[in-house]
Amino acid sequence: MRTTTAPYPRKSLGELALERPPAKEVRRLHRHGLKWCGTCKAVKLFSDYEYFAGLGRHSKLCKPCRVTNKSAIYGRWKVWRSKIRLEILNAYGGLCACCGELRLEFLSVDHIAGGGNAHRRALGCPSGLGFYLWLKRENYPNGFRILCHNCNMARGFYGYCPHEREVGMKDPF
Ligand SMILES: [Zn+2]
Ligand SMILES: [Zn+2]
Ligand SMILES: [Zn+2]
Repeated sequence: MRTTTAPYPRKSLGELALERPPAKEVRRLHRHGLKWCGTCKAVKLFSDYEYFAGLGRHSKLCKPCRVTNKSAIYGRWKVWRSKIRLEILNAYGGLCACCGELRLEFLSVDHIAGGGNAHRRALGCPSGLGFYLWLKRENYPNGFRILCHNCNMARGFYGYCPHEREVGMKDPF
C-alpha cells in the first residue's frame, strides 16, 4: 500500500460516506478536525457535533442526527440519569433520614449544613445530575443525607420538620 502525505480528506466530505472507520482511521480523522457519525454514516467537522463541557467530549451523533433522534436520546439519558440517582440514594441509605420515606420519587439529597442551591450553582448543574455525578466522583463525602421532599421543604420554610415534634418519632440524626 502506498503511503501518502496528502492532507485528509482527499475526497470531499460528501463523498466520504464511510462505514465505521478502523480505530487508526478515527484518530487520523480527529487529527484533521473530523469525526464520523455512526448514525448518518458521514464524516463531519467537529463543529457539526455538540460539545459536552462537563464530559470533556463531543456528542457521538452529529447535530442533525441528534435532532432526528431526539426522543431516543432523551429516553437513554433518562435511563442513565435514574441509574446514577439510584446509586447516589442507595449510597446515602436509600430512605428519608427524617420520616423513613422509601419511595424513590419522593427522595432527594440534602446538604446537612445547608447551602445546597449555591453548591449546585457553583458546580454549574442546576438540574441536579451534575451534583449527583460530583457526589459519585468524590466517593460520597460526608455532610449529605437523604430527605423526602416534604421533610426537606418543611425544614426550608419553617426551620424544622413537624416529624421532629411528633411524640414517639425519633430523628435518626
Ligand atoms: Zn449524523
Ligand atoms: Zn421525610
Ligand atoms: Zn420529616
